[in-house]
Parts: sequence; structure tokens; C-alpha cells
Amino acid sequence: MANRRSATRREFLTLAGTAAAGGIAASATAPSALGQSIVAARRPVLDDVDVLVVGGGPAGIGAAIGAARNGAKTLLVENHSFFGGVAAWALGMPINQVRPDGKPRSIVHELLVKKLEAYGEPAVRFGKHELWCNVEYLKVAVLDALEEVGCRYLVHVRAADAIVENNRIVAVVVATKQGLKTIQAKAVVDCTGDADVAYYAGAETMIDPESLMPMTLSLALTNIDRAKVKYSDVRDAIHKARAKYPLIPSGFLEINQIAHSGSWYINHAGTADMGRVDATDIHQRTKAEASSRRQAIQMVQAVRESNNPDLQRIKWIGTGPQVSVRETRRVKGIYVLTEDDAMSGRTFDDAIAWRSGFLDPGGQKGAKFVKMQVHDVPYRAIVPEKLEGLLMAGRCISATHVAAAAGKSMGNCMATGHAAGLAAAISAKKGIVPREVNLRELRDALQADGVNFQPNDRDQKNL
Ligand SMILES: Cc1cc2nc3c(=O)[nH]c(=O)nc-3n(C[C@H](O)[C@H](O)[C@H](O)COP(=O)(O)OP(=O)(O)OC[C@H]3O[C@@H](n4cnc5c(N)ncnc54)[C@H](O)[C@@H]3O)c2cc1C
Repeated sequence: MANRRSATRREFLTLAGTAAAGGIAASATAPSALGQSIVAARRPVLDDVDVLVVGGGPAGIGAAIGAARNGAKTLLVENHSFFGGVAAWALGMPINQVRPDGKPRSIVHELLVKKLEAYGEPAVRFGKHELWCNVEYLKVAVLDALEEVGCRYLVHVRAADAIVENNRIVAVVVATKQGLKTIQAKAVVDCTGDADVAYYAGAETMIDPESLMPMTLSLALTNIDRAKVKYSDVRDAIHKARAKYPLIPSGFLEINQIAHSGSWYINHAGTADMGRVDATDIHQRTKAEASSRRQAIQMVQAVRESNNPDLQRIKWIGTGPQVSVRETRRVKGIYVLTEDDAMSGRTFDDAIAWRSGFLDPGGQKGAKFVKMQVHDVPYRAIVPEKLEGLLMAGRCISATHVAAAAGKSMGNCMATGHAAGLAAAISAKKGIVPREVNLRELRDALQADGVNFQPNDRDQKNL
């Protein structure tokens, strides 16, 4: 039975500063003091928009489509040359919770599905709630979806700082090939996964250095004779070679087929044997990237050197463009989602999305995945506790380490993105800060976009 936790609008507005913060081991703010202009001299203005979405992973895609569909002048900026974030870097892993029980989750999710389907069978296949994509089609389908809703986008643009005036973020400083520039916005949505914008703006962020989940450099194999080779053959050959190749991860190795192809991707425990690695620490990150590249070679060598001639014939296609990061900083919001919320299926009156999936033990050897209950994400978990003008979505919403692990499926990240984008658009249109957005109006708009908050549906098997 789900617990009900409610907050009236008045309570909501006064809850700032009293958020539950169970399980938070460490918090951090950027060196600049909150409420002061972080960059003394303004840089040339690159753009001036209603809604700026930073980071084009699943959350950013949801936020950009959600805001632009609502009529906001929206700009999505991305550090890489393509959109998709981990969905693209992980080389074909399932995008979970996009069509729960095979039914549409929202207009925003469906727009991406429609654009993928337009490329025919090679682009996508459907599971019980998930999509399996060929990531090359995914990268272009995202562009198609953004263009359909009139959302402008820029790649090779990295958020590098933020300008805060009177405790409100008013612009993001971005690094481009032509130097640092500013993008002014009425509302900003931080979809960087690592809470970069919030951190630069001086909002409080949370990170648990002792329990960070591992990063993983995915790799893909081909030239596999499906009649003779099983996933487990490849997995066993890799694990057996660990004595010779010590970088091979001791934890889980998941092998699956890339949609409509004869190739397989490998997801694995990545950096788990290196101890806890903080992807926002550039020294640790560099070590992790370097070690992961050597690790991939060792895994491929293990397959090639096996006694099985069918495995010896397997070829290596390549790796993702960078390690995929499971967990780093989260922004401290007005409310901090907890493990108990995730496990008890808690509902909230200010729900803006639901999440479901597994509590991910983080690739540790012998650790089990635990199925959690469908639970709500309250609006208060996507609004920073103190800073104005900013919303967060996806991996960096306000949650404890465990609750963050619980809700990171890509469909869930798109859903919090959708809500954040819509709330940002409403706040920009009304000339108010996101904290003041009327929850009834936001929830009505989400429902009009096809979002279903009904608890009855929570009994469905594949939520
Ligand atoms: C190895 C691994 C396996 C996974 N397997 C699955 C799975 O099978 N199914 C599933 O549903 N989920 C899976 N997940 C979880 C899921 O991929 C993530 O939780 C999800 O991608 C998070 O979405 P996001 O948009 O919040 O962040 P991300 O996907 O991390 O995207 C963030 C985006 O922001 C950009 N960015 C970052 N910083 C900046 C900056 N300063 N300026 C501009 N752009 C910036 C990045 O380049 C990136 O494109 C997996 C995760 C990992 C790491």
C-alpha cells in the first residue's frame, strides 16, 4: 500500500529550507557565494531565450520537447556532438520505462518513439516497457523530434559557469570554440547529469563519495554465430581470463543484442574494482577513462584467446565515446527523495512524475538488484532548496544516494525532464520563478500531455 505524503501550495512554498535530508553524506557548493554574480564581467551574449536546457541526455530531451511544445522559446545545448547522453554512449542498452505495459507514457516520450519508428525496423524494437534502439538512429531521431516542436539546439557547447543575480540564475556561461559566451534565460533546466549548472550557480549539491556507483565504458562485438554462441559463453570466457587480465571487472557482465543487428553490447561493473571514483574530480575521471580503455582491450583479448573457435572469430566494433556515469552530484531540493519513498511506493500531492525500476547495487560483486515500488517524484524534488530560476531533471534531481539509484531509468529521466521543461515554460510565460508555478496548472498541463498519475495503474506488471 502506497503512503501518501502531501504538501499544500502554502506548505510547499514554506518548505524551502526544511527538506528531509536522510542519508546525505556530504554536500558541496561551488566556491562562489550564492546570490552574488559569479562572473564579474559579462561575456558576449550568444542567445537570449525563455528556457535554456543544459545537457541533451534523456532528461534534457524530455525538458526541451516539454518546454518547446508549450510555446516557450527554448534552446538545448550539449557538450558532445550529438544528443542522447548515456542512451547514446551505452551502445544500445534498453531505454527503460518508455512504454509501461506497452502503453504510451506521454506525448513527449511518444514523439521520440514516433521519430525512431519513422526509420523503420532497423531503428528500434519494443519490449514490455522498454525500447531497444540502434543508437545511430536515436541520435538523428532526437534532432527530428526537436525540430518538429521548434526547439533550437546547439552542440559542442559546454556550460562552464553561471551568472546569479539576487539569488536568481539569469544566464549560463558556456565554453565555445569562439571563447566564453553567455546565454540569458528566464528559466534554466539543469540536465547535465552531474548538476554542473547548479554547482556553478552556488546551489547546494550532494554527493556520497563512499558509495558512488561505478562508471562503465560499454563495448560492442560482432561476427557472432548466434546458432553456436550464447551470451554466457562470452561472459564466462571474459571472467575466466581475469587472472591474466586483472582489469576485467569481477562484478556483473551483461551481454545483449543491439536492436535488429548481429552485434552485441556489453554492460559491466566498469570501475567497481577501482574503488569509488568521482566523475566530477578530473584526476579521478581521467584515471577511470584511461583504465576503462585498457579494460575493454583486456576483455576483447579474453574472448579472442578462449579455447572456443566460435569465440575466437568474434570481432570488436568499438566502445562508447566516453565512460557512462551512473552517479555523481545531485542538487539539494526543497524535498529530498529517500530510499523509503522508493521502496514504499510513496505518493505526493505535488507529484510531477512517477518512477519505477530497480535499486541498483552499483556493480558490486554478489550484490542483488532489488525491485522497488512505483513511486512519485514531487515537484519539490526538482526545485533547488534555495536558488531561484533553476530546475533540475534526470540523474541530478534531489534524492539520497539510494533513491537516486532507484529512479535512473532513461524513461523516468525523460519524465522528470518533461515536467521540468513544462514548469520552466510556464514560469517564463508568467514572469514568475519556477518555485511559484501553480501546481494544479502544471499537473493539468502534464495530464494534457498524456501523463498518467493514477495510482490504480501502479498495479500493472511492467511499470
Ligand atoms: C553503464 C550504465 C548502464 C545503464 N543502463 C541503463 C539501461 O539499461 N536502461 C535505462 O533505462 N537506464 C540505464 N542507465 C541509466 C541511464 O542511462 C541514466 O540514468 C540516464 O541516461 C540519465 O539521464 P540524464 O539525462 O539525467 O543524464 P545523462 O544521460 O548523463 O546526460 C547528460 C547530458 O548532459 C551533457 N552534459 C554534461 N555536462 C554538461 C555541460 N557542462 N554542458 C553541456 N552539456 C553537458 C552530457 O554530455 C550528456 O549528453 C544506465 C546508466 C549507466 C551509466
